[in-house]
Amino acid sequence: MEKTMPLNGKFELMALPYSADALEPVISAATLGLHHGKHLAGYVNNLNALLPGSGMEGLPLEEVVTKASGPLFNNAGQLLNHNLYFGQFAAPKADNRPMGALAETIDAAFGSFAAFQEAFVKAGAGLFGSGWVWLSVDADGRLVITQEPGASNPVVHGLRPLMTMDVWEHAYYLDYQNRRPDHLAALWQIIDWNVVAKRYDG
Ligand code: MN
Repeated sequence: MEKTMPLNGKFELMALPYSADALEPVISAATLGLHHGKHLAGYVNNLNALLPGSGMEGLPLEEVVTKASGPLFNNAGQLLNHNLYFGQFAAPKADNRPMGALAETIDAAFGSFAAFQEAFVKAGAGLFGSGWVWLSVDADGRLVITQEPGASNPVVHGLRPLMTMDVWEHAYYLDYQNRRPDHLAALWQIIDWNVVAKRYDG
């Protein structure tokens, strides 16, 4: 997994690799603007304020997440989670699905892409409160779906995260109100499977 290093002791707010309205109607420009420009920016600022004196200055973000606890863990985890989340989208596409080796591994692990999608949305919809649902690869190369509460990330369990859906209400409430399963189902249109395949290839 690629390491995210601080620059002059600070982590940076990622630039979105697409325009603010590129993901509409799945994610509105209003939601994207708040989610990236307010929520994620807040986590970045909090983390940078907490790092000095923590003993974790200069460590890669991924290592801070596996070692920290309390507010430092929460803000580092949310930065790593959102970097992976915002980095995996592209404009909506009909019949959007993975190709190649990743597609074959998903079929082998879950039976079919449709069965994988169903299991993933079920895990996201069934996560109580705020958190994240993830597709990861374990140390033996097996694909796993996990639910992570709050700011957690699969790296804390030794997994390598490939793809995620944010089930915090701030990710969908403006566009979908309380209809979390509808939001999760719509997100399949905007997953950039080329990005996910690159993460899978390591
Ligand atoms: Mn979020």
